[in-house]
Amino acid sequence: MATVKRKHSRARGRTRRAGHPKLAAAATRACPKCGETMMPHRICPSCGNYRGKDFKGDDGK
Ligand SMILES: [Zn+2]
Repeated sequence: MATVKRKHSRARGRTRRAGHPKLAAAATRACPKCGETMMPHRICPSCGNYRGKDFKGDDGK
């Protein structure tokens, strides 16, 4: 079954975000381990911590 590709235009979303800086900014959190600003649900770029585990140097290759 086909799915809806787009319910409103990119321009419409961008126009809305232009008036709401908080919507335009990428979400960030402070790392619980090192306090560095990081994206939520991502491995910390500074210390490699995610959910209490250290993933530093482990790029999955
Ligand atoms: Zn960290």
